[in-house]
Parts: sequence; structure tokens; C-alpha cells
Amino acid sequence: MSDTITGVGIGLGVAHGPVARMAERAPAPRDEPSSRAADEEAARVREAVAAVAAELNRRAETAGGAARDVLEAQAMMAEDPTLEEAVQSRLEDGKTSEWAVHDAFAEFRATLEAVGGYLGERAADLDDVAARVIAHLRGEPAPGVPTPGHPFVLVAPDLAPADTALLDLDPDSPNRVLALVTTDGGPTSHTAILAREKGIVAVVGASEAAHLADGDTVIVDAASGSVTADPSDEQLSDAQRRADERAAAEAAPVTPGALADGTAVPLLANLGSPAGAAEALELGAEGVGLFRTEFLFLSSKEAPTVEAQQAEYTRLLTAFAGKKVVVRVLDAGADKPLPFLNDAPEDNPALGLRGLRALRASEQILRDQLTALARADADTDADLWVMAPMIATVEETEYFTSLARELGLKTAGVMVEVPASALLADRVLKRADFASIGTNDLTQYTMAADRLLGTVATLQDPWHPAVLRLISHVGEAGAAQGKPVGICGEAAADPLLAVVLVGLGATTLSMAPAALADVRYSLGRFTIDDARRIAQAALDADDAAGARAAARAAAGS
Ligand code: PEP
Ligand code: MG
Repeated sequence: MSDTITGVGIGLGVAHGPVARMAERAPAPRDEPSSRAADEEAARVREAVAAVAAELNRRAETAGGAARDVLEAQAMMAEDPTLEEAVQSRLEDGKTSEWAVHDAFAEFRATLEAVGGYLGERAADLDDVAARVIAHLRGEPAPGVPTPGHPFVLVAPDLAPADTALLDLDPDSPNRVLALVTTDGGPTSHTAILAREKGIVAVVGASEAAHLADGDTVIVDAASGSVTADPSDEQLSDAQRRADERAAAEAAPVTPGALADGTAVPLLANLGSPAGAAEALELGAEGVGLFRTEFLFLSSKEAPTVEAQQAEYTRLLTAFAGKKVVVRVLDAGADKPLPFLNDAPEDNPALGLRGLRALRASEQILRDQLTALARADADTDADLWVMAPMIATVEETEYFTSLARELGLKTAGVMVEVPASALLADRVLKRADFASIGTNDLTQYTMAADRLLGTVATLQDPWHPAVLRLISHVGEAGAAQGKPVGICGEAAADPLLAVVLVGLGATTLSMAPAALADVRYSLGRFTIDDARRIAQAALDADDAAGARAAARAAAGS
């Protein structure tokens, strides 16, 4: 009988395969006397080393290429005679085999590091070998991202950024990660962001997945946020059919974003550097909906010059010639402090001098940025729009848009990230050419839930009807005045939520480029009437989970 576990799906993907669990790195052994005879311990070590070397060689064989050389070198390290002697002498001193391996490898590691260069770089490989031998001695699985020698569904508590670098997504690799399931983490966790960026089929925060065992067959369905263990043949063939359909949709020519009835919903990219432009265009971005300028200057001690900025903006605008590019002026503060804008420590930086407030306190920096943007605009052919972050009042709207116009920028708008400006959207939009809703901060401030804090992550959910009602309010104000209302928070990258946002009045959606294909496909399944009906179902719910479920039911999925 199949068994379904739920979590939060990232994207629309579906995949199936055998589970391989991420083994946690076990604590280092302690230096304590062994209860076994030295020759018994020596035999255990020989057996463990041989097993680890054989396993590494087996993987080397299947991996081929550069990975083969690394794995073969590791297998040789495991059986290195100098190391064997070092282990043996510790065993003769009455140590446990776990400690002897740990201590002997640590000594060898120090020697390699002292040599430096190529050998020094092998120190981490040596740690991995030691950890594998110790795990074998303890009868535990090898640590880290597993490499079982066949494609697998990775089940992990959560992934550290260092682990994510090791995920093998090569379709031809024997150790390909087919999908990712985490027991912890929410939709804005690092794992979720990475999965979205890399297009990995993922369900996060599925706490019951902790019970899955290596080798269990599962279907991971990101569209419904479910993991089905022990699926029937029929469920497996249905999952395969959907995976094939999606692969076909992704391979299909990239078209402009539109609903099934032809209503255009331009799909734009969120970028933090002009370097991302080529990939965004390749994935079908119809322009840029959010260019986070602060990302260019996070490591600068001094405010960037007009010339330095002009060069970056010119690169960006040149890449998007003929297309709309929305540039946000520096959003400094809270999780993105810039030394030249935020020098005084604050107890509550998310509620402090951030966004436009910080720029206004150093107006020359804002003037320089707008000047650089106007100069880059004059030299290029993109349709440049500028906007200010963290607008809370009508007066701030007036301040920013008039300054931008004074400095020669033709289209000036605001980000709606604070409930106050959402509630006064009709007044705000009278002074602005457009609004762009930053759902990450709008959710944080509506729910009073710090977006960086894991303990309140469940409240940081843009599906919450309180957030959706504010978005609907802005959508109505935009429609009444004929002013565009974009969405540029993570919410726009959720394929079903994207449909809801359009139903609430969003006219464009901007997201990480890797999310474009899923959102394009999802929009194409519904008409504007469907989108409004699905949005209404979500608005009428009591909470985020209820809104998701109601939208899914209304969408018939
Ligand atoms: C947002 O708050 O939704 C947004 C797009 O801005 P950032 O994530 O850069 O704060
Ligand atoms: Mg924001």
C-alpha cells in the first residue's frame, strides 16, 4: 500500500526513484582504551579499509572521467602502507580502531597540509576516506551526499551550502540526484532557493520523510508537495507520463508568458548582476523585473562612483536592448547592510533605516545612482524603469518619483513591501508610474515574522490570505488607474501562486530565471477567469495551508 508524506513542493517537477539518505557526519571518536585485543582491532581495520577501498574503486569504475581519478586516488589513500603502520602503532598502544584511524589520518593530514600545493589540496579527500573507514567500523552509512552508483532521490534533514555544491545533476551520471526531499526547511530555505535555481525536483519540510529508508521507491511530486512511498505500478507510470510531458514542455520553444486565453503576462527575470543576463534571455526572460543593485556593491567600503555604476548599468541595459528593465535603487540594511549606507547598529534592523530611508539619509548616494542610471539609459536602447525599495508612505513615493524625474528618468515607481503602502496603494499609485510587490518583505511585515528566522518560518508564507488580500488591494488600485503592478518576490516563482497573483491583478511576474519555464507552463493552463476564480478560493481561506489547498482544488490539481 502506498503511503503519502506531505511537505512544500518547489516548482512543478515530478520524479521517481530509490531513496538514498544523507548520512550525518558522526561525532569524532574519543581517545579511550579498547576492550579488544590489538590483533582483533587490526583485523577490523583491515576489513574496513578493504571494504572502503573496494567501494571507492567500484564508484571510480562507474563514474569515469575526472571523478574516476579522484575516487581511485582516495582508494589508494585508504590502503596506503604508511597510514597502515601509523594505525597499527596506535592499536599496539591499546587504542580503539576508530580512534587509531582518526588519529593516524589526522597526523597524515597535517603532513599533507604542510607540504601544501596539490598534496595540500588532497587533505579534504583524506578526511573523507577516514570518515568512511570510521563509519564502516561503527556499522554506519558513509557520511555526506551519498553516491550509491545509481540515480537516486536524496533524502536529507536539510542541505548545507557546501553539500549542495556536490549534487550531481548530470543526466548521464550513475550518481545523478533525481529529486530532493528534506525533512526541515521551508519554501525560503537555502535548499529551496537552490532547488529552484537549479531546477531540481524538490519537496522541502516533509518531516515524515525521516522514516524513509535507503532503497525505498518514492515518487516526489513538487506540484502537489507530496512524496509517495511504495507507489503502485499505476502511480509510477502516471508519474513517468507527467515527467515526460514536463520534459517536452521544457524542450518546447520559449514563448512569451500568456494565459490560455491569450492574456499576456510578461515573464521577467530577477538579477543581481549583468553577468546573469545571457542565461536569463536564453530561458525566455522578456526583460528584467528586479535588478538588485545592492548586490553589486556588498563588499564595497565606499559608495560606488557614478562612473563605476554607469558601466554596470550600461552592460545590463545593452544586454536587454529593446526590453523592459526595472532597476531598484540600493536596498541596504537588515540582511544586506552596505557599510557606506548603514553605519549605526540597530536593535531591529528590518524595522530601521533601510531601503529608501537609508538612501534618503545619504541623499547624494541616491542622486549619484539615479544620475548613473540616467546616463546609462541615454547611451542604450532598453526601456529603463527605476523603483525604490521599502516605501511606507505616500510622501516617500512623491519624494522618490520626483527626484528620479528631476534627474532625467522617465519611468519611476515604488516597491510595495510594507503593508502601509499596500493599504494606501490608490494614493501611492497616483504619484508613481507603477508598483512592484516584493512579496518576501511584504510577507515578513504582514505576518511580523523575520524572514531570516527558522523558528517563525511557517508564518513566512506568501500564500497567507492576509498577504493575498493586500496584493489584491494593490491589484485593484493598479487596474482602476491603468498602472502596471508587477510581482518580484519569491512568490512569483511558485507556479500555482503565480496564477493566483495574476488573478489578483498582477500584470507582470519577475523571478529567478530557472523558474520561468515552470511558471510559463502553469499560466498556459488557465484563462483569466480561471485565475480569478482560483485567486478567490485562496483569498477565502483561513490560513496559508488552506489557501494552497483551496487553490489546488479550484485548479483541479
Ligand atoms: C522582496 O522583498 O520580495 C524583494 C523582492 O526584495 P528582496 O528579496 O531583495 O528584499
Ligand atoms: Mg525586499
